Amino acid sequence: MRGEREGTGVREERCTDTTTITTVAVVGAGMSGLIAARELRREGVDVLVLESADRPGGRMMAETSVLGSRLDLGGQWVGHGHHRFASLATELGAELFPMRTPKRPGFVDGPRRLPPMSPTVLAANAVLLAWELRAKRPAPAKWTGRTVDTWLRKVPGRQTRRLLDVLVSVTTTADLDRYSMDAFTEAVRHHGGLTAMLSTSGGAQEKLIAEGAGTLTERLAADLGERVLTGRRVTSIHHDDDGVTLRTTADTVRAVRAIVTVPPPMSARIAYDPPLPPHRTMLQQHTYMGSVYKAIAVYERPFWRQQRKRHAEFILLGHPGGAVFDTTPPGGPGHLCVLVAGAEARELDSTDTAGRHRALLGQLVPHLGPRVLAPADWHEKSWHLDEHAGGGYAALATPGTTDGYLPMPSQPVGPLHWAGTETANEHAGYVEGAIESGERVAREVLRSLRHTAL
Ligand SMILES: Cc1cc2nc3c(=O)[nH]c(=O)nc-3n(C[C@H](O)[C@H](O)[C@H](O)COP(=O)(O)OP(=O)(O)OC[C@H]3O[C@@H](n4cnc5c(N)ncnc54)[C@H](O)[C@@H]3O)c2cc1C
Repeated sequence: MRGEREGTGVREERCTDTTTITTVAVVGAGMSGLIAARELRREGVDVLVLESADRPGGRMMAETSVLGSRLDLGGQWVGHGHHRFASLATELGAELFPMRTPKRPGFVDGPRRLPPMSPTVLAANAVLLAWELRAKRPAPAKWTGRTVDTWLRKVPGRQTRRLLDVLVSVTTTADLDRYSMDAFTEAVRHHGGLTAMLSTSGGAQEKLIAEGAGTLTERLAADLGERVLTGRRVTSIHHDDDGVTLRTTADTVRAVRAIVTVPPPMSARIAYDPPLPPHRTMLQQHTYMGSVYKAIAVYERPFWRQQRKRHAEFILLGHPGGAVFDTTPPGGPGHLCVLVAGAEARELDSTDTAGRHRALLGQLVPHLGPRVLAPADWHEKSWHLDEHAGGGYAALATPGTTDGYLPMPSQPVGPLHWAGTETANEHAGYVEGAIESGERVAREVLRSLRHTAL
């Protein structure tokens, strides 16, 4: 089959052997890859999306509970100002709702709930404020190599250190002994402050999607139909004056342009010929994926809303430490979302589902009662064990390096273009950033195709 693609001057042909020819090959069917493909299709460009996993969505993934509710094991919150994400949800017919949240979460250490005016909470707030202010100015040069963990060790008070440790881990998914103070304050600056990162209402955890945020990537992929090929891990990318050849675990694809949307540490698994320029190789070598475990416990009803405190938002200071949110959809069964990050997320891998269930929900018994131990359903995922995503929420810079600061670079290398949430100018690391980068790269590729066609 041969034909000229409208508006691009680029010829499309399909061979009968195992080489498929397209105009643009997109590596990765996460939010950024699907948005890029959708935008290019809208301009009449022939696109193929190659996805290594057996499902599209990448770091977004919705499941259905035994009670019929939809829940997210990957990205879910629509943060304040995440207007692209909110518009996409509305466009795809999904329902946005504000997360139910108390004035402040309960800080719980075993059976104890720390009063908001306790020395621990006040001291932690003072450190958070100091970081917030510090992030407004360039960090001292020595902070590039100084880890958050080293810095925290100087904070007086075991419980204050623990509280800060859990908050920073759950917010970034970094191993704090592998995350520099400079990278952290850069991230804070990029995201418009710590308050914005940590807050529910008015911050990054403001709204949810009743059908599950993962439904959006499912719908985008369904609309693209056969243009999304799953089970196709791209193993090598060769480019020359005539275009790009991508070898996958199943076949070969020839394209005029390729868009790589996989985060830099995962992109390092692809063999590039000719080799990538040093700045991209460094970026791959100097970044790693965060470690995060996420679980959703599903109950017939959000029973905690009838209790004295009427909420179930907690920061757990026990072991493992983590955060708990009430993500119950409107009129639906009760959903408790549990997040554990960094090294403590990986520690959970050595126990079984029942052990993780006990270790996490067990910490809530003194605060919500024994009913919390008997959910109707339990969904969980350790993202750092996902061989395709590699981890989450996002790629992080290793201490002593600055290549992986946000936004990560995306200048094209010949016919290779780069996207993915890490490259976004705004809200990098979030779904909003993934959408922004997908739209940006589609415009970039269109411009370059039109330039070639002239
Ligand atoms: C547990 C968790 C909670 C999160 N919570 C939130 C939240 O509440 N709100 C929010 O905004 N964001 C959240 N995020 C972040 C958000 O999910 C991501 O920013 C976003 O989904 C990233 O999209 P992406 O397209 O850039 O990358 P990905 O989704 O990672 O897409 C890249 C794709 O490339 C594929 N791939 C990798 N290697 C290859 C290869 N060699 N060949 C072919 N395909 C390949 C991967 O399988 C993947 O599908 C969360 C993430 C996680 C993991």
